[in-house]
Amino acid sequence: MLSALSSLDVSIDEAAQVPTLTLAPRQLHHYLVGLQSIRSRLDALLCSVTADADRAAVQTTTGHRSTASSIGASTNADPGLISADRVLGRWLDEFPLFADAFAAGILTRRHVHALKKIDIPRTHLDLIEAQQYLIDAAAGCTWRDFAHVLRYWLLGADPDGDEPAEHKRGRRGSIRTLADGMVKQVNYFDPLTGAAVKNAVDTRAKAFWRADLDAAARATDDEFTARTHAQRMADASAELQIGGHHATAPPGSPPLIHIVMSEEVAEDALTRLADPDGVAAGRYPSIDPDRLPLDAHDVDGRCELIDGTPIHPAEAVAFLSRATLRRLILGPDCEVLDLGRAVRGFPRRLHQALLASGRGRCAFDGCDSPVSWLEADHVFPWAKGGRTSLRNGQLLCGPHNRAKGATINPDPPIPPQRE
Ligand SMILES: [Zn+2]
Repeated sequence: MLSALSSLDVSIDEAAQVPTLTLAPRQLHHYLVGLQSIRSRLDALLCSVTADADRAAVQTTTGHRSTASSIGASTNADPGLISADRVLGRWLDEFPLFADAFAAGILTRRHVHALKKIDIPRTHLDLIEAQQYLIDAAAGCTWRDFAHVLRYWLLGADPDGDEPAEHKRGRRGSIRTLADGMVKQVNYFDPLTGAAVKNAVDTRAKAFWRADLDAAARATDDEFTARTHAQRMADASAELQIGGHHATAPPGSPPLIHIVMSEEVAEDALTRLADPDGVAAGRYPSIDPDRLPLDAHDVDGRCELIDGTPIHPAEAVAFLSRATLRRLILGPDCEVLDLGRAVRGFPRRLHQALLASGRGRCAFDGCDSPVSWLEADHVFPWAKGGRTSLRNGQLLCGPHNRAKGATINPDPPIPPQRE
């Protein structure tokens, strides 16, 4: 046992000696990826050993009241964190496949934490059954996509719609002045109201990012420092609430939220809207636990925000009376087959179709930019004769769009795209 600890200690010392600042960016990237996966494995080890220590009641050797306080007192670590390790470790007793995947570095601590959160009485047995499926999902997608998979999985466990009512009741907000005079604001919204608020703030923050880039390009002064992302988010919130000159959307401006529904879900939702007393009391046929659109290419059964966040159809129904509906038919691989005719200009229609089929992701693998940052882009550059069409379209976030322009065609620069 002691030799295992000392060889780990030596290995960490060696790793700390790596001159990271002299590594090429690619090497540094690999190094950090490796370290992150080792951290995950260490987290897994800590959870399982802490659970074992708890079972063995190690605190009896020091006289503390719990394992967490005993280990905390010997290490100066926060007993709350040790206790959280113990809780995760004990929870994994019932989920051996999750425990193995965690130990192997396939699941991270955050994955396990998120999985534990969806282990509620009505899902417990299903979750035990679904272990391998959810591990595969976690291994094959980004963290954000995995969160969406879990959301859908939970909707499948809640076909009657208890959750939307809980969301509505759960809205709350606070704003208070802190001791140093800063003001802190915290709000919780139901998913759809929250999406509209988030969309508005993200959109403003992106406009600020553009303005900052321009200012940086013009700046002759070495002292120039751009705002951080967090500062732009704060500025955007303040402007929207206090009312800067962009704050109010002009009448007839585009809707603030996009909801993507499959035909089946939309028809059911519209029927409920027309007859709120009749069908509304019943179950939602569109939520079939065995046929949820968990895969990125699944089309049937979709009910989600345009960034792929699943929402309960009951939540969407409440918004439908204020919505503009557009038809967009996707083929089996999320390929856009028909766009409908309700939209005016081609570019916006193209943009929305790309958003819906790509679930609001930047085409750059693993990028987590928010939807409001995405720009329609020509796969084959427009400047070289690429067509403005769905087939030649993809969505890239602002930074990746610029990066692409810089790597593919540094000289001459690609002219501004006209779509
Ligand atoms: Zn991106």
